[in-house]
Amino acid sequence: MDVEAQRAVDALNRIGFLLERTREPTYRVRAFRNAATTIAGLPPGELRRRLDEVSLEELPGVGKVTATVIAEAAAGAVPAYLEKLRETAGELASGGRALRELLRGDLHMHSDWSDGGSSIEDMVLAARELGHDYVALTDHSPRLTVARGLSPERLREQLRIVADLNERLAPFRVLTGIEVDINEDGSLDQEPELLAQLDVVVASVHSKLRAPREDMTRRMVTAIANPHMDVLGHCTGRIVVGRGRPESEFDHEVVFEACRQFGVAVEVNSRPERLDPPRRLLSLAREMGCMFSVDTDAHAPGQLDWQIYGCVRAEECEVPPERVINTKSADDLLAWTRS
Ligand SMILES: [Zn+2]
Ligand SMILES: [Zn+2]
Repeated sequence: MDVEAQRAVDALNRIGFLLERTREPTYRVRAFRNAATTIAGLPPGELRRRLDEVSLEELPGVGKVTATVIAEAAAGAVPAYLEKLRETAGELASGGRALRELLRGDLHMHSDWSDGGSSIEDMVLAARELGHDYVALTDHSPRLTVARGLSPERLREQLRIVADLNERLAPFRVLTGIEVDINEDGSLDQEPELLAQLDVVVASVHSKLRAPREDMTRRMVTAIANPHMDVLGHCTGRIVVGRGRPESEFDHEVVFEACRQFGVAVEVNSRPERLDPPRRLLSLAREMGCMFSVDTDAHAPGQLDWQIYGCVRAEECEVPPERVINTKSADDLLAWTRS
């Protein structure tokens, strides 16, 4: 990409990030992300030609607003649209700062290989931009077909792409990972040999959320005892916005005790519609001696900034930072997930 195109793409993506972060409607974010994709795909010299001819708007995905942003950025200026967004950006939350500053990475995010909206590279670069030392790529597993879960073959292919990225981006680390479904019988929805190779295995319940308490407890504990599992994702499955979804029922003490015994971190899921576990369970898990992972479950780059919401809750529930595994360095974290 030539310099002008790179500037335009960076500005468009930055706008996309800021809009995602404040939960602007998807269509508005898409306008900027799509324009970035179009510009990134232009042959050398074409952007310059179109700027001279004033024919940017003929390109697919480029409209009046995005064309102005592209022209301003290409000229080396900060686009007015971006400038305005930056001024109004502000903090997402008032608390949680102390813990957030100790976090060195994020262990739960999705790319467009499953149900995320952005490429692996865009997600990873955004994580690095936020100051992280590492991020785990945790796309869905095969049975979650609605989210385009990755077959073993696709996951193997993804691992090769992550290896290439790691060579290019070192010392930043892209950790290999998965958000694997916990099957009804408590088994994990991916080949054990493949799970064994991954740096981070987040496991979550995504089906039969209304199962009876005993069944759900058995299902979760079976998974937690699986040596490949590292993090228990959004443990209650609740949704707290819109029509919402109630918490799944399980024996909290048995499940958290299993997490403690088998060395599985309880995820503090930062997504605003989840905020899972609820405070009373987060406090219970803390009292019981569990480890935690404060993650975003981001499906778009701007959502990687939502970690602060989880930090606020962890602080409110007095979770000690030394019990949050993503305050560890990448090497210490990997030593922990492998033990
Ligand atoms: Zn999930
Ligand atoms: Zn997820």
